Amino acid sequence: MPSCTHLDRVRVTQLPESVEGCEDCLQSGGEWLHLRICLECGKVGCCDDSPNRHARAHAHDAGHVLIRSIEPGERWSWCFEDKVALLIPEVQGETRIPPSPLG
Ligand SMILES: [Zn+2]
Ligand SMILES: [Zn+2]
Ligand SMILES: [Zn+2]
Repeated sequence: MPSCTHLDRVRVTQLPESVEGCEDCLQSGGEWLHLRICLECGKVGCCDDSPNRHARAHAHDAGHVLIRSIEPGERWSWCFEDKVALLIPEVQGETRIPPSPLG
């Protein structure tokens, strides 16, 4: 079984109450489909099905490889380096997000 060796890097254990959307898309006027949060610094980015894939770009640029979905009802995390999905029970809370601009 593949596993993630980066769990000691998780700094965000309490999800924000609400976010406005993908931080980079909001700045650039881009549109996102689904939202992910970086578990190392809390940056909110967009998923791989979004045109700009900002969550992946942030993982690459910052070396922060663990994200968690903040879509309603979703609890899974993903490690970009180990390419493995996982559940991290230490991460608590539920984030209110606006509807995707792409529907
Ligand atoms: Zn990992
Ligand atoms: Zn984005
Ligand atoms: Zn980060």
